[in-house]
Amino acid sequence: MKRDDALEYHARGRPGKIAVVPTKPLTNQRDLALAYSPGVAEPCLEIQKNPEDAYRYTAKGNLVAVVTNGTAVLGLGNIGALAGKPVMEGKGNLFKQFADLDCFDLEIGSESPDDVIRFCQLLEPTVGGINLEDIRAPDCFYIEETLRKTMKIPVFHDDQHGTAIISGAALLNGLELVGKAIDEIRVVFSGAGAAAISTAEHYVRLGVRREHITMCDRQGVIYEGRVEDMDPYKARFARPTELRTIEQALEDADVFVGLSVAGAVQKEWIARMAKRPIIFALANPVPEILPDAVREVRDDAIIATGRSDYPNQVNNVLGFPFIFRGALDARATTVNEEMKMAATRALALLAREDVPESVAKLYGLKKVTFGPEYLIPFPFDPRVLLWVAPAVAWAAVASGVAQEFVDIDHYRTQLEA
Ligand code: NAP
Ligand code: MG
Repeated sequence: MKRDDALEYHARGRPGKIAVVPTKPLTNQRDLALAYSPGVAEPCLEIQKNPEDAYRYTAKGNLVAVVTNGTAVLGLGNIGALAGKPVMEGKGNLFKQFADLDCFDLEIGSESPDDVIRFCQLLEPTVGGINLEDIRAPDCFYIEETLRKTMKIPVFHDDQHGTAIISGAALLNGLELVGKAIDEIRVVFSGAGAAAISTAEHYVRLGVRREHITMCDRQGVIYEGRVEDMDPYKARFARPTELRTIEQALEDADVFVGLSVAGAVQKEWIARMAKRPIIFALANPVPEILPDAVREVRDDAIIATGRSDYPNQVNNVLGFPFIFRGALDARATTVNEEMKMAATRALALLAREDVPESVAKLYGLKKVTFGPEYLIPFPFDPRVLLWVAPAVAWAAVASGVAQEFVDIDHYRTQLEA
């Protein structure tokens, strides 16, 4: 992709990628009286009497705020709120295109976690849910935890949980293919930031034993007793171990998960992993190790990256639009672990189904079937909406956080329409 093309795409026509579109006619004096004064007073009074009516008379129930303070944008680092705006607009675009959710992108001019928290809390009347985005670790953990405790609408930090959910699906399917049991595998993480911590916690919920996870950051292995560069989130993965480097940790490991930086692992280390290793090199835009380099040292590896030019792209767009769709349609008060688990399992199961020819064609392929080169669904597969959103909505109902009952079959039919 060329730099000029990307810039031209954003500058073309009306600058940016999103706009606000009216949903009611406003072409004459009567419409004006209904949409605005005096007619608009009627829904105002109804909502004042019964706040739930906001979901009946306003856009709140279909509206997501994408909130950032620009402290960890893509792999670009702390480029600031304003420079992060193209990413947030892009997110808005994806919400709309993939799940017909409307979106306000809100870039906050403050690095203070407490400012971000207060800002989000004050938004509760406006939106149905909040997608936190590109906020640095460990601030992002504190911000999301506080908001989840204090707010009654779903708050979801996509950099943490999106990756966890989607790579979790890839892990379940990868293990199915290599025939290993999830409670026996040894997993090594490169990275201990927003994505890695949440992904590791999610893997534990999926059945990986915490003591089988070795997490590494810039200092190497996170071991019990280490004091440098620690935080409470890393500490949950500190292990009693003699291992000090990622190279040592990878010896005989079954799974490698890279959520760090380009080039963080070498092929010689991958060569010493256990048989049939699973390698998720997810740093963007350049992975910890390229699939071609893995292939040079092993022919039995299952590989996923964050890139669209290799098989098995772990791309967050497989998650957030559909997770919010399901959460908002069930009027869930939160996105809880059950809902994240349901999204993971729905993605994993969908990948085991035959792929319609029309979908394969979109990717220039003839026939696509479940296997090492196809572990997780394609983002442009229209079935993803129909599988993930109902699974999430149902999990919200079953776990008691839904305020609206969702009949799954009926809901799926509605989504299809
Ligand atoms: P983050 O919060 O900044 O965390 C980055 C982590 O990487 C930190 O723990 C850092 O260590 C560690 N790290 C840096 N250099 C390292 C090295 N040479 N060896 C080992 N660890 C190293 O960032 P994030 O949001 O979690 O994202 C991390 C990476 O994952 C980025 O490349 C991002 O693009 C990618 N990602 C991909 C997806 C996907 O779906 N494909 C989704 C989310 C994130 P310290 O703690 O010591 O600083
Ligand atoms: Mg992000």
